[in-house]
Amino acid sequence: METELKNRSIEVTRPYLPELEEFLPYLEKIWENKSLTNNGPFHTQLESALASYLDVPYVSLFSNGTLALVSALQALRISGEVITTPYSFVATSHSLLWNSIRPVFVDIEPHTLNINPEKIEAAITPQTTAILPVHCYGNPCSVGEIKRIADINNLKIIYDAAHAFGVKDKKRSILNYGDISILSFHATKVFNTFEGGAIICHDKNMKRRIDNLKNFGFVDETTVEVAGINAKMSEFNAALGLLQLKHVDDAINKRKLIFERYIDALSSIVGITYIPQIAAKSNYSYFPILVNNSFALNRDNLYKKLKTNGINARRYFYPLITDFPMYREHASARKDNLPVANTSANNVLCLPIYPELEKEDQEHIINTILSCAQTDFN
Ligand SMILES: *Cc1c(COP(=O)(O)O)cnc(C)c1O
Repeated sequence: METELKNRSIEVTRPYLPELEEFLPYLEKIWENKSLTNNGPFHTQLESALASYLDVPYVSLFSNGTLALVSALQALRISGEVITTPYSFVATSHSLLWNSIRPVFVDIEPHTLNINPEKIEAAITPQTTAILPVHCYGNPCSVGEIKRIADINNLKIIYDAAHAFGVKDKKRSILNYGDISILSFHATKVFNTFEGGAIICHDKNMKRRIDNLKNFGFVDETTVEVAGINAKMSEFNAALGLLQLKHVDDAINKRKLIFERYIDALSSIVGITYIPQIAAKSNYSYFPILVNNSFALNRDNLYKKLKTNGINARRYFYPLITDFPMYREHASARKDNLPVANTSANNVLCLPIYPELEKEDQEHIINTILSCAQTDFN
């Protein structure tokens, strides 16, 4: 039976929002105490609530994840060359350019689409100072192997954990690995504060440095220690974060059910493979599939077919970062250096997943894909 065609379109994600009434008391507090930003009461509360929820020692809130990345590199005084992945959102490597650091791109692993540790070792030069991996789709990188390489070569590790809110391995939060991890609380992420982000670090002095960096470099009323930026989170966003935190477990559980329904329906289709969530505790932030040659349609035609049926799947991450003009001339951006990343970018499609995705809408997505699989387009 054909699923009824909806006239509204289904987006790849829809931001999670609590009931407006639940937020009003927070706003009243802000209007009462007139504290709008600069480390106000909600900011302080959210930092400690997140440290405890995420099971990490120190959280510094930011106005967004990109400024958290830029500031993390400054906090660790990174310069020269940094080894990173081309398979990410462009902010990952833009943070290097904003610090006049040269990105060196290495290939990814085919099963997780995370940076391949073996390729890291081969790319190290005397100028290399750090590694900037991404826990892509919330799947943990090979943190042990990356640490081993960093220790031998005296490199820092900054994890772009924008996708990895709440993700844990068997032992602990994956945000505890590396020197610093950054989070994004953008509207499209698992936990959102409209816009927002954070740096996770492991010692008090580092947190102090990070907090100065996001506030123009001020250490007290009259002392400016570093050339910092303004990347503070406002009280409005922090208050929303406190409210969102009450709902985030429920939101992740709903995502999990949608994720599992997709696996159930799609895993036996020839030519489609999905990227599983491999962490001990996952957040089900994305549902990426790889469409290969044995499927009836190539990725772009499946993408179009879904679009005509009102389904806006997204090709994360296509194009690769290394296809953008400010990167493509780099020696490490050559396609033959990045075969797995290029193939994955050409085959990947992220299907809609968000807590309020309705059952009929998900069935409509599944049926549209199944109808392609069963059709001979030749
Ligand atoms: C969303 C995202 C960012 C940027 O975060 P913003 O809060 O939007 O600035 C950085 N890296 C990755 C991998 C992301 O997905």
